[in-house]
Amino acid sequence: MKYQTYERGYTPDKSFESIKEIISEAYHNGCEETSKGKPADYIPELAKADGNAFGISFLNNAGERIELGDVETRFTIQSISKVINLAASLKFRGYMDTFSHVLMEPTGDEFNSILKLDTRSDLPFNPFINAGAIQVVSLLADMFDFEEMLGFVRQMCMDNDIALNEDVYRSESETGDRNRAIAFLLKSKGVLMADPMKTVDLYFRLCSLNVTARSLAGLGIVLANGGMNPFTGKHFIAPNYVRTIKALMFTCGMYDFSGEWGVRVGIPAKSGVGGGVVCAGNGMGFGLYGPALDQAGNSVAAIAAMEHISHLLRLHAFES
Ligand code: GLN
Repeated sequence: MKYQTYERGYTPDKSFESIKEIISEAYHNGCEETSKGKPADYIPELAKADGNAFGISFLNNAGERIELGDVETRFTIQSISKVINLAASLKFRGYMDTFSHVLMEPTGDEFNSILKLDTRSDLPFNPFINAGAIQVVSLLADMFDFEEMLGFVRQMCMDNDIALNEDVYRSESETGDRNRAIAFLLKSKGVLMADPMKTVDLYFRLCSLNVTARSLAGLGIVLANGGMNPFTGKHFIAPNYVRTIKALMFTCGMYDFSGEWGVRVGIPAKSGVGGGVVCAGNGMGFGLYGPALDQAGNSVAAIAAMEHISHLLRLHAFES
């Protein structure tokens, strides 16, 4: 690990050509990291991913793209669906309703931990751990069916080809006892808002949607743009809700690595165990795919690449 500092007065060149060069360096840095992690295997189907794969897709407000590596490979969105579920809950149920059912505190625990939920609070700590996401899905499960939620996901990622990966869904459903346990624990506390089996099934399906790094860049730019699609100018999430989502991505988006990510990268982000990471920078959306993961479940290549990009473009939220 190295501590990134700047020469006095360093002002980054943010021309498109310079961004291209920086992203290309970041891509190479990421490729060098892939051997340091490995694909998730607790959902057996995910273990089939190519650990050497890596891709970065960049999209800015002007609709310009920079793409390197595996940007069209389909992989499952996994925990990044938690961002979209939260967006749907804020949009259709509102802020007060959503946050009277889930808290907004980071845990420092693994994403599928049950510890604090059982011992410290009846409500899950935040919408980006499994317990919190399952709780948020329970707010939606009696309002929308899977097809309707899929339509929402496609819109937010600007990708109409997103579909269910049946094999991952089946694999996840067969091995998802811990998530079922979480749903039943929430039910036993009297806080789950829909039937636990129905809720978990929708949660599994939403985790098993096939996206690409490019679709995640689409999601990133919508979030970077306060909820507006830069191509159509249409807002489909209110900017104040997007602010809330990005704040939670900053504090809780990278599992129990969120604190370190906040120091080293400092861009709102969310990762998934399929190897995806979405980042919402200042007027820039990034989608990354690198299925080799570290202990916390984050893409090792994506961390290295985004640290480089954030540093050279001075994208850290607290840069001065
Ligand atoms: N579907 C995965 C699970 O529930 C999502 C977890 C993740 O991406 N961290 O375990």
